[in-house]
Amino acid sequence: MPGSRAKGMIMTNMRRAAALAGVALMLTACGSEAAPQRNGTPSTGISSSAAASPDSFTVVATGDVLIHPRLTEQAEADGGGKIDYRQLFAGVKPLVSGADLGICHLETPLAPEGGPYSGYPSFSAPPEIADALKDTGYDTCSTASNHTLDQGAAGVQRTLDKLDQTGLKHTGSARSAGEAEKPLILDVHGVKVAQLSYAFGFNGIKRPAGKPWLANEIDPDEILSAAREAKAAGAEVVIASLHWGVEYQHDVTAEQKQLAQKLTASPDLDLIIGHHAHVVQPFQKVGGKWVAFGLGNEVARHDEPRGSTEEGVAARFRFSRAGGHWAVDKAEYVPTLIDLGPPIRLRDLTTAPPTQRGKEALANTDEVVLSRGAGDEGLSRPGR
Ligand SMILES: [Zn+2]
Repeated sequence: MPGSRAKGMIMTNMRRAAALAGVALMLTACGSEAAPQRNGTPSTGISSSAAASPDSFTVVATGDVLIHPRLTEQAEADGGGKIDYRQLFAGVKPLVSGADLGICHLETPLAPEGGPYSGYPSFSAPPEIADALKDTGYDTCSTASNHTLDQGAAGVQRTLDKLDQTGLKHTGSARSAGEAEKPLILDVHGVKVAQLSYAFGFNGIKRPAGKPWLANEIDPDEILSAAREAKAAGAEVVIASLHWGVEYQHDVTAEQKQLAQKLTASPDLDLIIGHHAHVVQPFQKVGGKWVAFGLGNEVARHDEPRGSTEEGVAARFRFSRAGGHWAVDKAEYVPTLIDLGPPIRLRDLTTAPPTQRGKEALANTDEVVLSRGAGDEGLSRPGR
């Protein structure tokens, strides 16, 4: 994992080995507390950072985690009767765990332990998915999507409780007004990075009266004020995860363009990563900042796979300190493919053994991601 530091969230074998070898490591306090953390306590363990913060860090963000029943059948087969999604994600584990900050997008609420589970249109996914995300190396998940309220307030509660138990941070939905108000600020090797998460709507489900804080709905002014509050609370970098766009459409919509322009014009927002279309959308620099309009599906098993719904992309950004602030100085995209198997497996197409289908997917994703001039702005992909 060149250029990456061992992640602070887990005492990995790699770090243990490195520590034994006497290699100076940046320690981070992110998630090191035993007690589950509510959504974003600005003071989370900052004081236990043992080293000066670094001059750069990497972020890897991936697409929709959309747990259709056939993925769960695969996970049951892999777990010998117990649900275990880890093998599904194994292909991207080096990529995600190699980042200093791994960001996932959990599109669906989680079911109670043991079920009942459900797929489209009203999702309730096995909670074991959270364990697999943690194992893959994710640190935090955005949870605002059009499915956030599929199982009502109880679903929100269960999902966030499970993420807490698993040691994954989260933002985008909340169990209380107080939780919703606190910005999620992550400690990335001593650098404070905030994450925001908003969705265009909730499939017609109204947020209960008096509980607008259950899930974040896109409102430009609200997003900007949340970004401002995060910066005021000490965040050095603010990343917004937006659930937007049109399903199965690669093209960026007029609404996406307008919102990206408005948000990136603010000094309080540094990066936008997008979700929802279930197909890859372009990357583009807007207002001098990177916008990954849509990362496609990370994992999904639609009843009628379209090819494009199996092609996703991970975004990898390196932020570096320049003068008094942070900016992205390296932007990469890493195409992925859901190999429908059997067995169903997620592949990192820049490291997986080449196949005809993989080559097609690479070509398709290159074309879409670069279609708005991102290559000229410095976006690259490993191996291209
Ligand atoms: Zn969606």
